[in-house]
Amino acid sequence: MIASRARFRHAKKIERLAGYRVPELAFSPVMLETITSHFNYDALDFAIRDQLLSFFNDFLRCKCKNSPMCGCPEKKFAIKVLELRENGLDHRQIAAYLSDEYGIEVFPADVLSFLEESVHVLEAISDVARLQGHEALATKTDDHIRLIER
Ligand SMILES: [Zn+2]
Repeated sequence: MIASRARFRHAKKIERLAGYRVPELAFSPVMLETITSHFNYDALDFAIRDQLLSFFNDFLRCKCKNSPMCGCPEKKFAIKVLELRENGLDHRQIAAYLSDEYGIEVFPADVLSFLEESVHVLEAISDVARLQGHEALATKTDDHIRLIER
């Protein structure tokens, strides 16, 4: 899962503000709890605050009762990476985008292996769909594969 590889560049600042130990992994439970609870965003530099708010808006907004521990944030992040690829960014550009937009660091090599794994999963979905006669789903899945692989 690509989300488990995502680290916040400014995790130390977040930790200092929180006043307790926070792992740098962006989607670790402690980090998610910290930035969704009584966290003083105003005490952060403007640029970092901006990145954290983008992170919050793009990945942490869902209506699940147990949010942010519901799995949605990790899923939304994975979908975001796939969307960036389908919009034509390569794995290095995706890593750079995540860094600029969210202050998140992911190794380009991890992005690349995530994209390859995703293609394998999609190929399996496409095969099963075709076997079961769901031609429309198979075709749609093939379109995604083509966009990721190009
Ligand atoms: Zn949720």
